[in-house]
Amino acid sequence: MLYESSRDESLKINPSQAIVQGLSSEGGLFVLKNLGENKIELDKIIGKSYYQIAHQVLKLFLDFTEEEIEACVDNAYKGKFSTEEITPLVELSDSYILELFHGPTSAFKDLGLSLLPQLTKTALDRLEDKDDILILTATSGDTGKAALEGFKDVDKVKIMVFYPNSGVSKVQERQMKIQDGKNVKVCAIEGNFDDAQSAIKEIFVDEKFKEELSRRNVKLSSANSINIGRLIPQVVYYFKAYSDLVVSGKIKRGDKVNFVVPTGNFGNILAGYYAKKIGLPVNNLVCASNANNVLYDFLTEGVYDRNRDFLKTISPSMDILISSNLERLLYYLTDGDNTYVNSLMTDLKEKGKYQISAELLAKLQGDFIAGYATNEETAKVIKEVYEKEGYLLDTHTAVGYKVLLEQELDGPSIVLSTASPYKFTGSVYESLFGQIEEADEFKLLVDLHEKTRVKIPSNLENLDKKEVLHNDLISKEEIAQYVAEKLGDLS
Ligand SMILES: *Cc1c(COP(=O)(O)O)cnc(C)c1O
Repeated sequence: MLYESSRDESLKINPSQAIVQGLSSEGGLFVLKNLGENKIELDKIIGKSYYQIAHQVLKLFLDFTEEEIEACVDNAYKGKFSTEEITPLVELSDSYILELFHGPTSAFKDLGLSLLPQLTKTALDRLEDKDDILILTATSGDTGKAALEGFKDVDKVKIMVFYPNSGVSKVQERQMKIQDGKNVKVCAIEGNFDDAQSAIKEIFVDEKFKEELSRRNVKLSSANSINIGRLIPQVVYYFKAYSDLVVSGKIKRGDKVNFVVPTGNFGNILAGYYAKKIGLPVNNLVCASNANNVLYDFLTEGVYDRNRDFLKTISPSMDILISSNLERLLYYLTDGDNTYVNSLMTDLKEKGKYQISAELLAKLQGDFIAGYATNEETAKVIKEVYEKEGYLLDTHTAVGYKVLLEQELDGPSIVLSTASPYKFTGSVYESLFGQIEEADEFKLLVDLHEKTRVKIPSNLENLDKKEVLHNDLISKEEIAQYVAEKLGDLS
């Protein structure tokens, strides 16, 4: 089983190497060439547990032994999620909500980032690699904490997380600043998420820097959804949701469903596309953006143009103008045309934009529908759904819900709920009860609970009482130097 770079067919490696390396040396993303050749039989997933479904899915993407896969899945999820179902499906009057926020940090990133460390450890063993791994990750808020929790105190791994200063919610920031673990570092960057992500991508292609690390017996890797070890676990819950609908009699085996995905870096929705490729009966994948609607423009007009203002919204985890995983989709939609993908990515880097052919756009629109929501629309939906259904949406999920409301889709629709409303308490509270003056976000958590009676996830309780362990703030130009200097502090 071989993965290749989306930009260069000659760069081929096995799954373990792809997980350990994260990103291809010339900047491409690793893709499985014959994705979709082997399909999952629905009989093998319907009515099965999350663990069993994960096993079936992972087998198609990894050359690990059955025992290795089983151990990875068990270690990732057993006892770490607040519900045995892992990703419960909730029925509303006109749709379903797939709750992906019952993990250790209350966002969907936990699904990928609980499993990635297990896959990384197994991959290192399989490769008989003696080096340590240094995970460098840029976060728009949720990846950082989930990666820190997943990798903390994992042998042979060190992790550094960079987040945009004042680009994440108060709760997200505090979650990261109190992170414990001997092998972790957290640092704020002056700039936005794209600045942080681009600076880290530069480090990954900096051969001199990597040589210096190599002398210290350290290899770089990534916990962003550019790593296949993070992306593949996300395919699982699409199948789990489908199985739940069949088991509860809401659909018949083989019926098609729609998934609505609040989207930023295009990782989550790409996992849905992978699910479809390997046999899940999917009608439409609905890509929901916030006011940073670069993907909406792309999916409707075929021009990807990041030359626009970066807007700060109430769904900060989707405040992104460069959606990295789109590159993988372009690879598959062109039947693996690495040269073409490479030329588009060169355009993106040099001009900040690229345009695809009308033919390719038509193909894209065969699988994907796009929409977006402004802050006001998002807030309105939170209030309406709460009043009508008694269900509390977080700001990201609300973007998805708003986009669903304006579509006419065939078959049942499942909105992926990517975070607990308590991660974005200030915005959710204001959506329901109107604007508030400078308030203490942590008191608001309790206040929101008292008013709605929706349970606060235990990992978000008393965040303000815990000790702050990380306070660094640097410019994006200083990241490489910071990494070199601080590496020695980690064990
Ligand atoms: C990361 C994130 C998203 C966006 O997911 P992508 O895989 O980057 O498209 C949406 N909502 C929340 C809460 C997130 O943390």
